[in-house]
Amino acid sequence: MSSVFPLRFRRLSESSLVFANEAGQFFKSNDRFLERLDNEKLTKSDQEFLFDHAMASRRAGDINEMSYLHRLASRLRPPTDLSYVILVPTLRCDLACSYCQVSRAAINAKGFDWSDETLLNVKSYLSKSVSKRIQVEFQGGEPTLRLDLMSQIMDFCREHFEESRFIICTNLSVVNEAFVDIISAEDVFVSSSLDGSPDLHRKQRTNTKSQTDEFFKNFSRVGELIGDRLSALPTLDSKNLPAPSDFLDTFDHYNMRSVFLRPVVYHGFARKRHPTSKDHQSVWQKFYEACIYEMIARNIGETSDFYEEYYLTLILKRLLRPGEDNHIDLRSPNWLGYDHQLIDYDGRIYPSDEARMMARTGQVDLSIGDVFAGLDEEKRGALQGRAFNALDPWCSQCPYQAACGSDPIDDLARHGRADVPKPATAYCQKHLHIFDFAMKLIYSEDKKNQHSLALWLGLPSPIFLGDVLQ
Ligand code: SF4
Repeated sequence: MSSVFPLRFRRLSESSLVFANEAGQFFKSNDRFLERLDNEKLTKSDQEFLFDHAMASRRAGDINEMSYLHRLASRLRPPTDLSYVILVPTLRCDLACSYCQVSRAAINAKGFDWSDETLLNVKSYLSKSVSKRIQVEFQGGEPTLRLDLMSQIMDFCREHFEESRFIICTNLSVVNEAFVDIISAEDVFVSSSLDGSPDLHRKQRTNTKSQTDEFFKNFSRVGELIGDRLSALPTLDSKNLPAPSDFLDTFDHYNMRSVFLRPVVYHGFARKRHPTSKDHQSVWQKFYEACIYEMIARNIGETSDFYEEYYLTLILKRLLRPGEDNHIDLRSPNWLGYDHQLIDYDGRIYPSDEARMMARTGQVDLSIGDVFAGLDEEKRGALQGRAFNALDPWCSQCPYQAACGSDPIDDLARHGRADVPKPATAYCQKHLHIFDFAMKLIYSEDKKNQHSLALWLGLPSPIFLGDVLQ
């Protein structure tokens, strides 16, 4: 007789359900198994299946119990030192995108750049808070308006830390020789925004034909200069979605096949300009799936240059491999303001970019200190109450809990509070959809789907990854 580690379940289709335990091991079965489980009448073959898949133990302390406990413990990582910092040397920007989340300041506005004193204190704060490795993401506003400040931070990090990496998030409206010089270093990456075809990009961002042409010219030039150190993120308006094939063609044209599909987020000032972004789930979900199937159709043969959607690949890895914990929006515990912080143009420190947006829009001040006086431990501590999805009454019954995360700042931004029942949150609805979709792909008999799954996970193709209990 085996003792089964507690299982949760969710219906995938009329005839199938996914079962999972708290450690994240899962399998597909049916209503007959659910009934046997519920009535405590598991058959010998049920018990053998569960024991063989390490989801039940035969005695206390056997290998299955130890591996289950090990998996559980490895998901509960303690907080780590600061290693990822978003720096905002200026809030000024030369564009005015309709869904800007941070309310940029006008290009000639005064008082929205780091002062000499702020720069000095940023360096001092980093030297005290970061131990060996640092990844710096420069954001704005448009950070390239202050190339001088970026250069000084880069020099400082290279000198003080064992390893440094820099990402410049820029609209690429201006590419001058000083910028080209900065990005020629191998530890510098450029991330820009590319919403799709020139027409769509103009409507959402650049407004005029000349600014649009300038952007695409600069984008091509930077791509030629730094190759795959250039990446681009789209932000898509659910009311104005492109055809998936046109959209992928644009990215393909620039040799970009890993795409992070993101709708306009109901944060910051996008709340005013795009109010429907709060309730776009069903339209967005259809578009999202259509894009993935278009990618799958294009992923033919063995290739290292395949199409993938960044977040779906992350979700698949989290479902199938414990330890993929680096994405701040998809982890639990989600230690807010520990390994990942943002330092704003005025020296204030926030646990994330979304948190600073909420302060800018006057919703709530989630700053956790500043570079002059240091961290406010009490404020940082107050944010951790909802960092664990395992403590949430809904998540603790959800088969995806081990792979899912917790994002109380998103809940606050969208719903005005962090204790909304999970199923009513945009975070939960988005993730339930992607997890269900990932399960559909994992349990698909279609060789094309299996081939793409293998490419995304770096496994031999084709591959069928799901366990099934009949
Ligand atoms: S947020 Fe939703 S999908 Fe994620 S674990 Fe909680 S209930 Fe499940």
